[in-house]
Amino acid sequence: MAKKLHLILMGPPGGGKGTQAKILEDRYGLVQLSTGDMLRAAVAAGTEVGKQAQALMDAGALVPDEIILTMIAERIGEPDCANGFILDGFPRTVPQAQALDTMLAERGAAIDLAIEIRVPDERIVERITGRFACAKCGAGYHDKFQRPKTEGVCDVCGSTEFVRRKDDNEATVKERLAAYHAKTAPIIPYYQEKGLLRVVDGARSIDEVTRQLSDVVDAAVAG
Ligand code: AMP
Repeated sequence: MAKKLHLILMGPPGGGKGTQAKILEDRYGLVQLSTGDMLRAAVAAGTEVGKQAQALMDAGALVPDEIILTMIAERIGEPDCANGFILDGFPRTVPQAQALDTMLAERGAAIDLAIEIRVPDERIVERITGRFACAKCGAGYHDKFQRPKTEGVCDVCGSTEFVRRKDDNEATVKERLAAYHAKTAPIIPYYQEKGLLRVVDGARSIDEVTRQLSDVVDAAVAG
């Protein structure tokens, strides 16, 4: 049976974690767990969590660890996670990383790889402010780097409606980057010390980053 992989994709906002997680999901039969997507769903549904998270997300600040950990603990207990998962946007603080280790240990599991998609700050604003997604299927696009093949029509599902994230504006991106450097970057040495860190060059094209990631994951599977 295939190895049940537990992967983390790390890196700055707009660095390609979500795009790559979706590609790896199909390639390795894993599920993508994005705490950002879960929070946006909670905001859209008007739940208590959504109400607590919304203002923080709009300001580019992190949502408190307790909220995130409750959400993720529930999610990884669901049946579709039994064959392995890719974490995208979580953990985002060292306490989240420690709690994740405890949570997985209780299930007899552990993180196999924590991969940093490294992108310099100066590339981030351009990447984030140009991105949009299909309103129906969620396929991701970019004004400059990845336009739909037919203008105004989703390549995947044919929908003609697109959405942009409220927090994908220049002012909020700066706050999100500041939060990344202050609170999230310290998880990189945390995984390095455990021997689980791998780094790929996220400034390359989508295909090239996928190739680097696949090499890293294939090596882990073979090992
Ligand atoms: P993302 O979609 O990963 O860019 O996340 C969007 C926003 O959701 C972030 O700017 C935070 O406000 C919040 N968020 C997502 N994941 C986390 C997390 N693991 N810890 C704290 N806040 C989070």
